Amino acid sequence: MSEPHNAQVHPETGSADILIVGGGLSGALLAGQLLRLPGRRRVVVLESRSELGRGEAYSAVELGHTLNGNAARMSVDPDNADDLTQWLTRYLADGGWPEAHEQGVPISELFPPRGLFGLYAQQWLAQAEALGAREGSTVRHVRGEVVDLEIDADGTLLTLADGRQLRGAYGVLATGMFPAARTPQTESSGLNAAALDPWDVQAMARLDPQARVLIIGSGLTMVDAVVSLEQAGHRGPIEVFSRHGLLPHVRRQPPVWEDFLARDPGIRSPRQLLRELRRQCRAAIAQGIDWQAPLDTVRAHIGRLWSQASDRQRRQFVRHVRPWWESHHHRSPPLSAELVARLHEQGRLRIHAASFQGLEPGAGGRLAIRIRRRGESHTTQVPGDALINSSGIEYDWRRVARALPRQLLARGLIQPGPLALGIAADPGGAVLDAQGQVSSRLFAMGPPLRGLWWESTAVTDVALQAKHLAARLAALPL
Ligand SMILES: Cc1cc2nc3c(=O)[nH]c(=O)nc-3n(C[C@H](O)[C@H](O)[C@H](O)COP(=O)(O)OP(=O)(O)OC[C@H]3O[C@@H](n4cnc5c(N)ncnc54)[C@H](O)[C@@H]3O)c2cc1C
Repeated sequence: MSEPHNAQVHPETGSADILIVGGGLSGALLAGQLLRLPGRRRVVVLESRSELGRGEAYSAVELGHTLNGNAARMSVDPDNADDLTQWLTRYLADGGWPEAHEQGVPISELFPPRGLFGLYAQQWLAQAEALGAREGSTVRHVRGEVVDLEIDADGTLLTLADGRQLRGAYGVLATGMFPAARTPQTESSGLNAAALDPWDVQAMARLDPQARVLIIGSGLTMVDAVVSLEQAGHRGPIEVFSRHGLLPHVRRQPPVWEDFLARDPGIRSPRQLLRELRRQCRAAIAQGIDWQAPLDTVRAHIGRLWSQASDRQRRQFVRHVRPWWESHHHRSPPLSAELVARLHEQGRLRIHAASFQGLEPGAGGRLAIRIRRRGESHTTQVPGDALINSSGIEYDWRRVARALPRQLLARGLIQPGPLALGIAADPGGAVLDAQGQVSSRLFAMGPPLRGLWWESTAVTDVALQAKHLAARLAALPL
């Protein structure tokens, strides 16, 4: 492999065939898939965290922060849907996760803690590493933040925050999700400094148990935050604010339903999809079957429908269907949902349809937020003792205040994806540069491809993408 630049390449980090930027679940699965394929290749994963395979999602330490799908749905191996169930069966037999037995459900129906899932992903990678070693393939974790990436005819050059550089034939952006630009009208750093980490139980344990907690956002991160508060001994009021005031539904285990979209490929627009889906849900309910059964069949088609849609149709979907899709499709694990429902019934947790306008100093050393309730034109100040921001993800890379996305945009190596969601790429994950040229050197997977597939984040999405991208990369010349 020829080397692209004359830059000083650090002797400890050196060069590789494939450089994967980001070692969360996506980066780890891609590395694992590359090691499983025949042939000899050197893979380097650049990750600022100390461990591969975890990212934010699977670094969780709290047992109550679980996957939002059961073991049967969360295999990292697209060729073996039972992989996680089989791993869990062995893990439980060895005495791990003893609390699982109290749930009294088959192992395939357990919702594992996300930290445990991280261990599973790591062991899957370790297994792949052992397989790859037989062919002379290697994977190495280089710890650090990648701040720049350059491409020339021969390959890719990465620069880390501490100045080290690495050369590789191909680069992959597996950089995951970036937290949302937190607030429209105040400096985001102000809100971030005032807000508690939704997963930091210890910080919450330092709160007065009767503290009035304000939570911005009502999705699955809010659900995790409520679990954290409960675990920390909080017993005071919780006020949740989100634009539509919708709570995630609970995930049940619906029976199989006919794949109506496979039968009728004529359904393309969001309006057609919604009309038919409502019809299917009504039919299911009339037969005493859970509405989640027809909804779950849509998942396999959402990428195709999204990629075929015009920008106008995509905008319609985002404007009119997205809040509904988020609360119905991204459902809550049952135990967490039970807690939220119980607190709601007790009146301790209230949900408000209101948009967050900004953070303000409150009276008497308290904090306050300004909100606009849905349907009202005036704003209202709401005082509280603590604040949790669970307002989601920033998918528009032009708004992400991190060095690498900025440099990639400034160098013209990437362009925003459809509706400025993530970055543009061909269906196989090769990124499009500012002129729309498909890169032969730079690829992406997972959340950066939100604009290409709409759903490009969940375990099953990234597991499948890792498999396909690995096959594509393995076929390229080194
Ligand atoms: C709290 C939470 C819970 C979730 N729960 C579920 C669930 O139950 N089920 C489900 O299907 N999905 C869930 N998800 C979705 C989840 O994001 C994906 O399953 C998966 O984590 C995506 O992996 P990723 O590697 O693409 O992204 P990430 O996990 O975000 O990992 C990206 C990694 O890239 C690193 N990185 C980024 N930029 C750089 C850089 N410039 N240099 C070096 N390193 C860099 C980051 O440090 C990070 O570790 C959850 C997400 C979150 C945040």
